[in-house]
Amino acid sequence: MKECEWMDNIDIKSLYFNELADEFTNINLPAFRAKQVYEWLHVKLAGSYDEMSNLPKNLRELLKEKYPLITLSEVNSLHSETDGTIKYLFRLKDDRVIESVFMKYHHGNSVCISSQVGCQMGCKFCASTIGGKERDLLPSEMLDQIYRIQALTGERVSNVVVMGTGEPFDNYDNLMRFLRLLTDSRGLNISARNITVSTCGIPDKIRAFAKEGMPITLALSLHAPDNEIRKKLMPVALKYDLKEVMEAFQYYYEETGRRLTFEYSLVDGVNDEEEHAKKLSALVKGLNCHVNLIPVNPIKERNYRKSENKKVQNFKNTLEKNRINVTIRREMGADIDAACGQLRKSYIDKNSGMGRN
Ligand code: SAH
Repeated sequence: MKECEWMDNIDIKSLYFNELADEFTNINLPAFRAKQVYEWLHVKLAGSYDEMSNLPKNLRELLKEKYPLITLSEVNSLHSETDGTIKYLFRLKDDRVIESVFMKYHHGNSVCISSQVGCQMGCKFCASTIGGKERDLLPSEMLDQIYRIQALTGERVSNVVVMGTGEPFDNYDNLMRFLRLLTDSRGLNISARNITVSTCGIPDKIRAFAKEGMPITLALSLHAPDNEIRKKLMPVALKYDLKEVMEAFQYYYEETGRRLTFEYSLVDGVNDEEEHAKKLSALVKGLNCHVNLIPVNPIKERNYRKSENKKVQNFKNTLEKNRINVTIRREMGADIDAACGQLRKSYIDKNSGMGRN
């Protein structure tokens, strides 16, 4: 399995049910054991073999030895007093840390997960990219962010957004395995319709994703109405022209019928003028889409500023005049203020003596 090279053992939590069953058959375990273990891992969300109380002790010991379990451990969490948002910092097997966010909405509980440790896409306003990419996350490490949060909060998670640290399409195979396990009816069985994947826009991956046969909502981090401005904020725009990205995105709609989401972070003086709103309206006109406006969350390493409220409102009004569906993203957990990747970044800065980053 890709990205498993740093481990000597099979990552049992990343196996599909039939792969787990084959694996158990090979070591002469009866078929019902695969069912039990898969259920413990993906439904009862066991964090260790010792919790698997209907397995005999000698089998638990064998499994521990043969398939060391990937389980994240909580390092820290910040709890919002105002809206119930919780930001988690989790430790991985190799001591690297990642962050995930639990959010409560009226339609259900949502978890925002990371797909990589760090990120190499280099978006200028983003904290996650500052130390570069350290490694991809395994399917089990993506799943376990949701599993641990559900176990820690005792609340059912119904929605998942792949919008934390990392570029999911830069870790495509592991992402797909994660999504198939997450939507598996033998597992947590989260509906693909309740999952959103957010990408900075890699055309061939968008097209491949369209062909996977999963009705997942795709969000494109657009952040600019044309390629010139986009290049200033997102190095990925130097590689792929906006026209090419938009064609792939439109193709995603044609193949899946899923309404497209555009994310647009408003950066003071860069992309938040009336002319930009008009140009953006023209760009997305005619698409079945929704635009999410996000006043940029300033990070201390860069001197980008948030657009003033009035400008954000004007920008929205211009889009509405052009009959574009638009919302201003509600800021969750504003009192535990930490933009994407900042909780992890501040932890790494404080613990830099530990040899990471
Ligand atoms: N790599 C993927 C997903 C992770 S980023 C992507 O690019 O979509 C999730 C979203 O948060 C993206 O839209 C990203 O551009 C945005 N984002 C990152 N840092 C931000 C910040 N400081 N303020 C506002 N939005 C930010």
